[in-house]
Amino acid sequence: MDAAWAAWTTVVVVTVAAAVALAAVVRQRDRRSARVARTDALTGLGNRHALTERLVRSLAAGERPGLLLLDLDGFKDVNDTLGHSAGDALLRQVAAVLRSGAGPQAQVTRLGGDEFAVLVPAPTGAQELEVLAKRLLAALSIGGFSSGQVPLDVQGSIGTALAGPDGTSAEELLQHADVAMYAAKRARAGVLRYDAAQDPHSTDALEVLGQLRRAMDEDQLVVHYQPKVAGGGHGQLLGFEALVRWQHPTRGLLAPAAFLPLVERTRLIHALTRWVLLTAVRQVATWRAQGLDTTVSVNISAATLDEGLLGMVEEALALTRWPAEQLVLEITETAIVVDPAGARRTVQRLRERGVRVSVDDFGAGATSLVHLRGLAVHELKVDRQFVSDLMAHPEDEVIVSSVIALAHRLGLVVVAEGVEDAVTAARLSAMGCDELQGYLFARPLPPADALRWARGELPAPQLGEPVDEPA
Ligand code: C2E
Ligand code: CA
Ligand code: CA
Repeated sequence: MDAAWAAWTTVVVVTVAAAVALAAVVRQRDRRSARVARTDALTGLGNRHALTERLVRSLAAGERPGLLLLDLDGFKDVNDTLGHSAGDALLRQVAAVLRSGAGPQAQVTRLGGDEFAVLVPAPTGAQELEVLAKRLLAALSIGGFSSGQVPLDVQGSIGTALAGPDGTSAEELLQHADVAMYAAKRARAGVLRYDAAQDPHSTDALEVLGQLRRAMDEDQLVVHYQPKVAGGGHGQLLGFEALVRWQHPTRGLLAPAAFLPLVERTRLIHALTRWVLLTAVRQVATWRAQGLDTTVSVNISAATLDEGLLGMVEEALALTRWPAEQLVLEITETAIVVDPAGARRTVQRLRERGVRVSVDDFGAGATSLVHLRGLAVHELKVDRQFVSDLMAHPEDEVIVSSVIALAHRLGLVVVAEGVEDAVTAARLSAMGCDELQGYLFARPLPPADALRWARGELPAPQLGEPVDEPA
């Protein structure tokens, strides 16, 4: 009995010991796999899972964390041109700079691709987040990154969101920091804080977007046309720029600034671009039948500069059987900077199709010249900001005349936009500017007025006297 009892207890003890040992092994493995599940293998930083967990814990503890979301500019270009291992190496270098720049309290994570997040556990306010974000961007821009012998210029955009005013759950904070980051990228602002009014998911914005969807079906959108004339004082009409407006049922005629930034953050921008393109091309075909043969320039948002655009262009040209050479697409530097390789491909294919491409707002961005290399564009539009200050600021004159000289050496046509007075027009012509556009010649006009203007039937606007844009 005793012996049997002893054997029995031995079995129990051994079994328990084995179970305990096994449990320890399992726990250790679980811990390791938990760590793996929360770690980004490439950089050793935490991953999205780790960030979400920490955010949830912090919010549950009643803290008010702040979130920074960073996305690099032109990272795809590094991957495409230098290869994936160069891209990986760059991401590791960026991770190190962020970790040392963010300080010991903050948690840096990589969310995937070239997207990083910084969680600040207890910021004093939104201002502190902004200061940190700017410091990190500065650290990246002087980071001295390189791939082999090739120095890499690293820029990025950061969106910030503060728990409380900018979101109350982990999911909301992440989403709002993301919205702010895209806004920062689009506005080339570097850093932007979340702003509900500009968020396509906020209730107000959803209402506006819903109305706009209907507006497109109900012909509330209209296109106005502003002439471009030859420099050198002849004032000969060279073409029109199509500019969209929204004839809102209660708010009156809305300028693009009132709705486009919002639309550009949603898929709706594709439908809007297609609508403007088809409307403009049809309009010019109509004018042609009325004896006015001219070109039209259509603005293309960064988000629509892709394969889909080529299809829209084909559709527009087929619809009107109108010569491709008379269509100009205006793209901004932002579109080029965000995805240089993609932009190059699309522009090249447009050019092969015979459509001309213009770089709009030239000079407003910092990285312009580098990205123009190898881009098959035919025209540069000098940003309005330089033109309007031309007389007051001698340094702007230097910029404009160097841009003109440079563009001519690259075989490009130069257009100055925002020309409001005759002195500036004369000065630009003397500098060799090929084409001029601005209130001096005409405001953007409804189609019927544009035709009358072209036929010389509308009086030129009085100089110095503001002319209201006809509704
Ligand atoms: P943008 O392409 O730079 O267009 C020129 C803007 O300058 C127009 O503003 C035009 O009305 C204004 N402007 C023309 N001459 C003068 C002048 O002498 N002085 C001043 N101060 N302004 C002048 P608008 O029509 O409000 O358009 C603003 C922006 O909205 C455009 O800037 C363009 O980026 C965008 N946009 C307009 N229509 C479309 C469109 O159909 N699609 C897309 N994607 N963007 C559009
Ligand atoms: Ca334009
Ligand atoms: Ca412009």
